[in-house]
Amino acid sequence: MSLKLGVIGTGAIGRDHIRRCSQTLLNSQVVAVTDINLEQAAKVVADLQIGAEVYPDGHALINSAHVEALLVTSWGPSHEEFVLAAIAAGKPVFCEKPLAVTADGCRKIVEAEVAHGKRLVQVGFMRPYDEGYRALKAVIDSGQIGEPLMLHCAHRNPSVGENYKTDMAITDTLIHELDVLRWLLADDYVSVQVVFPRKSSKALAHLRDPQIVLLETAKGTRIDVEVFVNCQYGYDIQCEVVGETGIARLPEPSQVQMRSGAKLSNAILMDWKDRFIAAYDVELQAFIDGVRAGQVSGPSAWDGFAAAVAADACIEAQNSGQIVKVGLPDRPAFYR
Ligand code: NAP
Repeated sequence: MSLKLGVIGTGAIGRDHIRRCSQTLLNSQVVAVTDINLEQAAKVVADLQIGAEVYPDGHALINSAHVEALLVTSWGPSHEEFVLAAIAAGKPVFCEKPLAVTADGCRKIVEAEVAHGKRLVQVGFMRPYDEGYRALKAVIDSGQIGEPLMLHCAHRNPSVGENYKTDMAITDTLIHELDVLRWLLADDYVSVQVVFPRKSSKALAHLRDPQIVLLETAKGTRIDVEVFVNCQYGYDIQCEVVGETGIARLPEPSQVQMRSGAKLSNAILMDWKDRFIAAYDVELQAFIDGVRAGQVSGPSAWDGFAAAVAADACIEAQNSGQIVKVGLPDRPAFYR
């Protein structure tokens, strides 16, 4: 039997996840949708020809007897309310990042899930489902390069819009590294510093770009992440792990190699959606399979909380220029 899904939020990623669940993935059916803009929700249902019911709001959808599990893909500030309501209804919920816009909001979700006594929440951090990151983690875990000592990473976007502010380099961009590097190293951050190199003339006046985020983990691994969101040339994600006995790099996305016009070249992707499209499929299939098997796994509410705590410290470090402690409490036994 297909898992009956309800989707809250039919904007860009919501529409894409509805298409994915209806046309690409196995064993799921979107039976209910809602959005603050009900006309838009109805249009998505009609465009994708899924025959789902449009609900007047998120709470009506969560409490519907026809809905077995939720996808929360609405605007970030609404996530906390809907995830807490899903937990109260005892329904599994996949929540796009951020789990909540404040660390305190994430903590409330962690507490509600622990009180419920069983995992219900999967956070939409998709990089741990990317084939390249999984291969990199397998190499680290195998011990082939010894213990990881240093990581050199980059998150580059060709350009960003006028609404993109300096702190969004942390909350919207670096947040994916904050999640995936914790997972990659099975380690937590203890401190962070942000330094600003010479500003790119391609960045708008209000934006400090690029930035270098320097993280230290509990085991002493040092990480530098270059966040450069006006790099012009492409969407480029880099991660190099320097271990005691060798170096491992995140694989490049596979592209045809060209010899033409006296050049040897590989195309570079321009759009983040293309870079991680397969990972989105795998993460949502994992949620569907997990719910059907009675065992939600993947990035947890605790991981959402840990990313939010680290992001807060990064923003404080952006503003102060100082080394800032990342004050993550001990992980509850429930999430070990
Ligand atoms: P979007 O296009 O603006 O879509 C959000 C939708 O939610 C809009 O239709 C919005 O309506 C609606 N909405 C806002 N408040 C609502 C409420 N209370 N109840 C129901 N619907 C509500 O944004 P998006 O790009 O799809 O992003 C959505 C979320 O996914 C964000 O949290 C974003 O960070 C996350 N995301 C994650 C990834 C990833 O890589 N994992 C990628 C993209 C997005 P209005 O437009 O009328 O306000």
